[in-house]
Amino acid sequence: MELDEDIQTTQRGFHCNLCVVNIPNKPSLEDHVKGKKHQHLLRLRAQRKAQEQNSVFVSGFKPDTSQTDLKEYFAQFGPVSDVIMDKQKGVYAIVEFSEPQNAQAALAQLQHQLNGLKLRVKPRERKDFKLASRGKHDSKTHQISLDKLNYELCKTSSVNEQMLKVVESFELKDNEKKGRDLLVQLLQEVFTEFFPDCQIVPFGSSVNSFGIHSCDLDLFLDLENTKGFQACAKSSEAQTGENQSEDCRSEDSILSDIDLSTATPAEVLELVAVILKKCVPGVHKVQTLSTARLPVVKFSHRELNLHGDITINNRLAVRNTRFLQLCSGIDSRLRPLVYTIRLWAKQKQLAGNLSGPGPLLNNYALTLLVIFYLQNRDPPVLPSVNQLKNMACEEEECIIEEWDCTFPSQPFIVPPSKNTEDLCTLLSGFFTFYSKFDFSASMVSLRDGHVLPITDFLQSDEEAVNTSEASGPKPKRSSAPKLGPMNVLDPFELNHNVAGNLNERTQKNFKRECCEAEKYCRSLQYQQKSTKGKFWGLVRLFVLPSEAGPRSHVDPEKIMEVSIPFKAAVLPEPLRAQLALAGKGFRGLWFVKVCSAVHMVFHEVLKCSPLAETQTTAVCQNLDKADRDGNEMEVNNNQSVEDSGLQAKGETGKKRPLTVEEEGPSTSTVIQAKKPKLDADLEHPEPVHWIWSQSNRVWAGRRKVRRDLLKTSDETSKPEGGCVDIESRVTQSIVEKEEKLQNSLEFEVHAEVVGGNESTEVVLRFHPSHDTAGVFQDFFHFLESFLPKMAETILGRAGS
Ligand code: ATP
Ligand code: MG
Repeated sequence: MELDEDIQTTQRGFHCNLCVVNIPNKPSLEDHVKGKKHQHLLRLRAQRKAQEQNSVFVSGFKPDTSQTDLKEYFAQFGPVSDVIMDKQKGVYAIVEFSEPQNAQAALAQLQHQLNGLKLRVKPRERKDFKLASRGKHDSKTHQISLDKLNYELCKTSSVNEQMLKVVESFELKDNEKKGRDLLVQLLQEVFTEFFPDCQIVPFGSSVNSFGIHSCDLDLFLDLENTKGFQACAKSSEAQTGENQSEDCRSEDSILSDIDLSTATPAEVLELVAVILKKCVPGVHKVQTLSTARLPVVKFSHRELNLHGDITINNRLAVRNTRFLQLCSGIDSRLRPLVYTIRLWAKQKQLAGNLSGPGPLLNNYALTLLVIFYLQNRDPPVLPSVNQLKNMACEEEECIIEEWDCTFPSQPFIVPPSKNTEDLCTLLSGFFTFYSKFDFSASMVSLRDGHVLPITDFLQSDEEAVNTSEASGPKPKRSSAPKLGPMNVLDPFELNHNVAGNLNERTQKNFKRECCEAEKYCRSLQYQQKSTKGKFWGLVRLFVLPSEAGPRSHVDPEKIMEVSIPFKAAVLPEPLRAQLALAGKGFRGLWFVKVCSAVHMVFHEVLKCSPLAETQTTAVCQNLDKADRDGNEMEVNNNQSVEDSGLQAKGETGKKRPLTVEEEGPSTSTVIQAKKPKLDADLEHPEPVHWIWSQSNRVWAGRRKVRRDLLKTSDETSKPEGGCVDIESRVTQSIVEKEEKLQNSLEFEVHAEVVGGNESTEVVLRFHPSHDTAGVFQDFFHFLESFLPKMAETILGRAGS
């Protein structure tokens, strides 16, 4: 049998590049080639190729030209089956004919004119976005300094070209790939000696198409067959009573020292480390990290100058690597976008493994964010994982650890996207998309191709299993993903938040840098080459955060702001359940809860006197009171917040002067006595406004007062803001013992959920309306740290 171009001979038989499977021998190969999957893929590939041959790429027409205009014009060459327009700018189109000869006829015509303009008609190519390499490459180091890159970038003529240049400068070159392949082969040979039938499988950036010169070599040591081998050796040993078996070559294998069916990963990895140290030339700095989430052996290789990782329990990572490979094969714009965004994120200290402060996004999570963004373009550039699953054939079904990891093995199975936006537009769109993203209250789901409300994940695990509304086979949800300031659900392991390591600060930095980049992308400096030799395009995007100069000019309003972030992870179970039941109205409910907590901080903890407030304040308090008392306003399991009419509306700007009997400690009593008037929309909560007055320096010397108070009681010490009772007593003590201000301080507080549906952060803006003693700055500095902590403490006990 003659091997076709898709079949490759390997050490272990054959490999089909089309179906991505290993085939052990010739008879199986013959069956495989005749099989359903191989034949189906052959047909599909031919179909895609024909589609390309039937189409022409057209540009040069007026922006108001319609699909019908083009269809009518090109009909002179034969029946036109489809016209795909570039939606953003309306300057390109792909015209698809029914037959390749129609496309040929259109291409053969020297001149085309439509509405008085000359059209350019070119063959349609699936661009592979490779620049022809110019001159010699610096093969010695491949490490190109940013200065050199910037110089090269400035010489190009467009942002699109710059992005391709970034790929060209950073991607792994063929000789590097070869070096890595040889090391994998060497490791395979060595490890086979010790673990018969094992397999060394590379994954991660060396093979996922996003690798850069310095990337590590991630390896999975698959011992599944070795386990089978060992079991077989044992059973024949038991039968023959000998410890050598001819069928199962146990020889002097290391397997006599370890039972793979019962050994812990740490024990196996210890052996792996010994083998690496003793038997693999060039390997040094071997280190076992057996307590990591995924135990791993790390090593370095001298000649190849690379770091490697070996894990033994990482089949999902091998599969998600295939998924990334598939995505970059589906649309060639993904690679330049990922390389550019990775470089931007590295420069801005948002991603990678830098030694900077706080945990950063890893490259896998960042790549998922890019793919998710492309799934959300209009029209989408990439399909959702669920759509991909539906395109796969039966043989491609893949379940790992009960997670459904099914997707097609070849990119051409996926119909080309109708999105024709260029790289420059897609890059700026990325920043716009994430600058407005409500990270803490949304779950990024590549599987669905859209965000899932965080409320879906606030239910307890048990409830989640019971109320899972999806039809068909239920996704495994043995435990909920860890929620945090950024929530990116792994496309396969559906209880794993790949950005779960991020803290508030990194998320904020990410969003802020997206805002900065978004603003920059709107400028001419981004879009047009500088004629005066100045930095332009991507170059200005890659400056380090410290070099970027002041982030934004000092905004006096901003200085007086305190924000209370939405932290799903630390909320008590009853409050999570209430928010979950509120559905789309959860933001409003959250806002009401925060306002109620803030009211409590000023009124009960800091003993400020209310001078005026919007109606909403009363609503907040009533709602909160109702919660605590468990009366009819409480959201019960059968009634959503919206259904129950639990809606809070404030009349913005309309202040409610307090009557005498409402003032002082009885305020809440008076308001509680009223039936709450809840008549508006929780999905769009109105801002809340208070005016408070304070006659004491309740912020000064609190630490000492707290220490003294705790000394005389047997209460355990709590950090500042950690206990309502202690903090109230601290204030009381200051009010009683310290000198009063000559004139009371009066200040306004304005609360709102910022950015509508883009954020679930509550921002409190302060303004001193009467401050003759000039003390408000000090009070505000104290509030900046005290208020969020205290509000979190109050919210933490809400409903409990
Ligand atoms: P680089 O090494 O260049 O930073 P990478 O993609 O190889 O990029 P690694 O951190 O080395 O990133 O991870 C290797 C692979 O392990 C990833 O490509 C991905 O397949 C998998 N992986 C990494 N982090 C996660 C995660 N949080 N969840 C699931 N899989 C992950
Ligand atoms: Mg890696």
